[in-house]
Amino acid sequence: ALQLCLPLNALGFVYREARDARVNTERLFELLRERPAIADEPGLAQQQPGPGEVTFDHVDFHYDAARPILRDVSFRIPPGRTVAVVGKSGSGKSTLARLLLRFYDPDGGAIAIDGQDIATVRPSSVRGGVGVVPQETVLFNDTIGYNIAYGRIGASHDEIVAAARAAHIDQLIDSLPEKYDTPVGERGVKLSGGEKQRIAIARVILKNPRILVFDEATSALDADSEQAIQQELERLSANRTTLVIAHRLSSIVAAYQILVMDRGSIVERGTHTELLRRKGLYARLWLLQQRMARDDTDQMIPTPG
Ligand code: ATP
Repeated sequence: ALQLCLPLNALGFVYREARDARVNTERLFELLRERPAIADEPGLAQQQPGPGEVTFDHVDFHYDAARPILRDVSFRIPPGRTVAVVGKSGSGKSTLARLLLRFYDPDGGAIAIDGQDIATVRPSSVRGGVGVVPQETVLFNDTIGYNIAYGRIGASHDEIVAAARAAHIDQLIDSLPEKYDTPVGERGVKLSGGEKQRIAIARVILKNPRILVFDEATSALDADSEQAIQQELERLSANRTTLVIAHRLSSIVAAYQILVMDRGSIVERGTHTELLRRKGLYARLWLLQQRMARDDTDQMIPTPG
């Protein structure tokens, strides 16, 4: 069961069917990864409030000493901007997100949020300021209201309803037999991939973080809900510093900067237009995706910006 859980979620958040998810996640990390997750040591600092600038400064990283994963990765996300990461499977995209959430510390270089090196900050405090919309949202065996409130424990019912409305999932909830008290998850009402992503979006709306990590779903959604979710996420990221792990290039044409990763290094960077002009790896990936979209009539055909 452990192995089955992992690929479902590229960020490595494995939510067990339990309320105390953090403990379980860390236990899984211990079991499955070469390196243990970092504990919340009492001496560590709190993340200071700020506008949400993210910097990776010459970051090197490996899970296993024999195999370097990230090499000399540097980039900056100015407050409120979106940086998208693209690259082949295994190139290290999700690893960037795991490091930003301080599941691991870099082996070389540093990661800072608003100039504060996160290696000196409690992991829980780092994560408190970062909202995540994962590829696949796993629901707790609890009510739909609880599942939304998980974004901010202690949120009032009115706040939960407002978040559901903003994530456009309120109509669905109102149609359920017990509305916000309807059990979901394994033993309750089953939700579609798109509905689960809306729950994740509602959680982030409640949490209201200044930094957002969005791990784009590879295939979970049909084209219509995908387009709707895309709009939702654009709204969500409008004023937040956002790191998008992108699988469809069509969704990132407007990014402030696109990083193209290959075997753990950033090999190209720029805006969509700049990268197309370069005629390098990005331009090749773009042509490939357009060709695939053309061959598949169910897919939207991306239009170059
Ligand atoms: P995808 O697009 O398939 O999600 P990715 O670009 O996000 O891929 P990562 O998940 O960052 O890639 O993984 C980068 C490399 O690190 C891969 O070769 C992967 O096998 C390896 N890796 C990931 N997690 C671990 C781990 N816990 N222990 C050892 N190696 C790992």
